[in-house]
Order: sequence, then C-alpha cells, then structure tokens
Amino acid sequence: MKQMKVQVYKRIIIRCLGFALIALMGTLLSGHTTLAKAEGDQEVRLVLQVTVDGLRGDLLDRYQAGFGKDGFRALMKQGVVYTNAQYQHANTETIVGHATLATGTVPAQHGMIGNVWFDREAKELSYNIEDPDAPLLPSREEHVEGEQVDPAQKLARTKGRSPKVLLAPTFGDSLTAYYAGKAKVFGVSGKDRSAVAMAGQVGKAFWFSTDTGDFITSKYYYDAYPDWAQKWNGQRKAEKFAGTEWTLSADPSTYLLAEQDDRSYEMDIKGYGRTFPHRFGEAGNKLLYTQLVASPFGDELLLDFSKELIVNEKIGQDSVPDYFSISFSGVDAVNHFFGPSSLENEEIVRHLDRTLADLLKFVDKIVGLKHTLIVLSADHGIADMPEYMTELGYDVGRLVPEEIVATANKAGEAFGIEDVVRFFYRPYIYLDEEKIAATKVKPYLVEKAIANALTDFEGIELAVSTRSMAKEQSGPLVDKVRNNHHVSRSGDIYVIQKPYWFLFDEGPIPGMHGSPWRYDTHVPVIFSGPGMTAQTISRLVHPVDVAPTLAAFLGMSPPAAAQGNPLKEVLK
Ligand SMILES: [Zn+2]
Repeated sequence: MKQMKVQVYKRIIIRCLGFALIALMGTLLSGHTTLAKAEGDQEVRLVLQVTVDGLRGDLLDRYQAGFGKDGFRALMKQGVVYTNAQYQHANTETIVGHATLATGTVPAQHGMIGNVWFDREAKELSYNIEDPDAPLLPSREEHVEGEQVDPAQKLARTKGRSPKVLLAPTFGDSLTAYYAGKAKVFGVSGKDRSAVAMAGQVGKAFWFSTDTGDFITSKYYYDAYPDWAQKWNGQRKAEKFAGTEWTLSADPSTYLLAEQDDRSYEMDIKGYGRTFPHRFGEAGNKLLYTQLVASPFGDELLLDFSKELIVNEKIGQDSVPDYFSISFSGVDAVNHFFGPSSLENEEIVRHLDRTLADLLKFVDKIVGLKHTLIVLSADHGIADMPEYMTELGYDVGRLVPEEIVATANKAGEAFGIEDVVRFFYRPYIYLDEEKIAATKVKPYLVEKAIANALTDFEGIELAVSTRSMAKEQSGPLVDKVRNNHHVSRSGDIYVIQKPYWFLFDEGPIPGMHGSPWRYDTHVPVIFSGPGMTAQTISRLVHPVDVAPTLAAFLGMSPPAAAQGNPLKEVLK
C-alpha cells in the first residue's frame, strides 16, 4: 500500500515536471518566435526594399516578353505577387508614395501631402524635404551647379535636406528600436526625397546629385563622407558617360513599342533628342547628369554605389537584420520626358530588368538570398499623355492653371472678394483667409461656391472643398482626398482632373502622374523571401500594407502610425 502511494506520488511529480517543462518550452517558443524563426537557414539578415519610381502596375506584364530570367521574372517566380495594389491617396507623387511605403500610413498622417506645398507661415511654396538646418555635405572642393529640370526641386528654398517634416516613423525606425540600435538602416536613390523618406529619422541617406554626378548626403546624416563614399565619388564614374549614347539593347523588331519613338510631344533635353540613339552632353554640360537620370545608366550608377555601401557598411552580415532601400529613378524620368507609351519606356524597363538581376546576384553573393526579405513596389504610376490619347481618338487636353485661378477668383467675387486665391499649386488651391474673414461670410460657403464653379470647368472631374469634405461629400475620390489631407499643409480646395487630362500645361516636362485615377494609383507589390510560397494574388491590397508586412515577417509590431495590415500570403 505504502509502495503504491509512493509510486502514485512519483507519477504525479513526473507528470507535473512534464507539464512544467512543456509550459516552459511553450513560453520560450511563444515569447521568442522571432528567435525561433530566425535560427539557421531561415534567418533574415537583410530587408531589401526595391522601389521603382513610376513603375505603373501593368508595365511588368506589358514588357515581360523582353525580360531575362534573373530579374523581375525571378522575383515573380519565387515570390508573392500582388497584381491589384492601389494607393489610397489622391496626390500620387514621389514623396507621397515613398513616405506611404516607408511608414505604412497615408499622407493625412505622415504629412507628406505632395512634392510641394504652400508654407502658410512663410507665405511661400516649400519643397517637401528641404531643411535649412541640414545643409548638403560638399562632395568636392569646387562648387558645381547643374541646371535644375525637376519642377518640385526648383521650388526648394534651400539645398539642405532632412526627414524632419516626415511625421510618422518608418519601418527602418521601428527596426532600429526593436534591435536596440544594432540594425543598420540605409536609403539610396537617384532622387533626394526617395532616399530620405525611406531612411526615416534614424537611417542614413545618399542620393544622386544632378549638379556633380556624385552621390551626396546632408549634415543631418554625416559630418564627413565615409571613406568608401569619398572614394566612389572620386572616381567620377558619371562623367565617363559624357559624349556617349544610350542605344537600344536589342533588335527593334523585339519591342512592342518600336513605332513609338519619335512623337512631337516628347521632350528633347537640350540635344538628348527624341529618338534613339540618345546622345549625352559633353563633360561640363549642365544637363549631362539630368540626361543620365533619364537613361538606364543613372540606375546602374546607383547600383554601383550601393554595392560599395553594402560591402563597406557590412550590410546583412549578422543575425540582426539590416534594412537597405534602393529607389530607382530612371523609369519616372523617362515617363516625364517621353511618356509611358514610348519606346524609351520599354527600353528602360527592359534594361532595369538586367540591373535588378545584377542587384539580386550581388546580394546573393554577399548576404545570401535565403537570408534576404525582399519587397519591390513603386511610389506611383503614370498617365499617358493627353496628346497621345487624343491621337488615339480619346479627346482630352491640358488644363491651364491661370484659367483655374481665374474661375475660382470669379466665384469669390460673388461674395465681394477680389483675388480670393492666394496660391494654386496642383492639386491644391490655397485661399486668402484674411480676405474671407473680412467679409464675415462663412469660409465654408466661399469654398463650396468655388469648388462648384471649378467642377463645372471643362477637364475637371471634381473640386473638393476641405470644409465640406468633412460634412457632406463622399465617394471613392473624396476618400482619397481625405487621406491626402493634412490640416496645416493641405490647401482649401483639392482639384481633380478628369481621366487623362493634365492639371498643368507648361514647364519643361510633358509627362505626368499625380491623379487619383488607377493609372496613377496602381503599382506592383512583390514580396520574396525565405520560406515564402510563390503565388499570384489578385485581391485588392494597398501600399500601406507593405511596412506592416515587413514588420510582421520579422515578428515586430508595425511602425507606430501604420494603418495597413500584414499580408497573410507573405506570412504563411
Ligand atoms: Zn515623377
């Protein structure tokens, strides 16, 4: 009897110990899922975010016959491909899209409502990431100034750049916090805003200078260039393209758009020409580096610089994941100068396919693709030019900003207000609040009257008054305007053009994006990484989902202000 009792006690004790052990293991496993997932072959050492500026969601499909097997095709074959990813904000511009990808939230929250907005305090236009307290770090002794073509950059009041006005934390910021400052975070691009937004507040950014052909940064990030960057710039690799040509890389018969090379509405960037071969200016030509950006070689230089960075900064070399964002600007530049239905567009996407293959091969060698979580997307799409659409029989045009202002002012006169428009920079109209206040008429009524008058204007789909947006207007377009609305930065009236109409008529750049229509909101979203099952998903997703998905894959919380959700197909 006594013996039996002892055995029962023994059994109970053993069982209890067993439960305790299972419970302990459970705690360990549940409390440390990241560590468990990160062990061995599946360990993520690098998060590689590839952004292709202006790569509309249908272009990969359109051109895929010309792709090799190691670039876009490799990602599509191994990864999770979302074919219906749409931005939810109205002003589909570069900084807006990049900030959305980086933070997982909409411009109403991250504050980057456009490449340019009206600074109400200073009463002048401001460029998104300008910062007088973060001057550029000179990359060479003599001062060189190129000619600025980018209409947004031209409006910058200072050359200083920083992420100070980005109002939401990025994925990179969260990664740094999660790994106690040990994760390295870098953003590089052909454009300043595309590098700065992705690097967030705590990462480092480098971008291509159209003044010098160097990759530069600002004093926000560094007091002096790292040796490797100084050395890269010292080799003057961009200058070597002076006097050379951008030619077609294959027989013209292999291109879908072979006939679309010479069109009167394309732009010749001072001798660069409208047709292949495009000839780069000689050394010293102030537009040489702008021409390079509007070619596949700007993207190649970006990759070359990135390779130096990855090796010298020891990116992806240990079990703490690093973040590297690379944003290619060539497709967007070509879209602006030649349009999306040009031979130049087909050729640059085809060339980028090889540049991407080169990047993937390099990352595989240095980090290992089995340790790399990749996401590829774009900041916005692109509209076909009104002249092209009209040629095809879809009659549209360009809106003249002065006529929009005149129409708005005329509507203001009904309330006894002269020149009620303080500023119009597409898409926002800023009204003169003091003049409206002096009339004692409710601002809401003035705004609404102007918005109504504009909505009747040919080529305008809808003008949305900020004050009535909150109360009475609804629908998918208004939702996008609301997502774009930041209380101190946005204007009083948002002007939406009809499909294929352009909200501007002049300036050196004929092609444009920036509308809430699908050709501007539709972008590719492709994830590829360890353990992922290749699949193509056609349900509607949004670029705000990208940052939360990256975070969830690593077992982290989403960036603080993220509104998107982790994409379940990536996490399976
Ligand atoms: Zn653009």
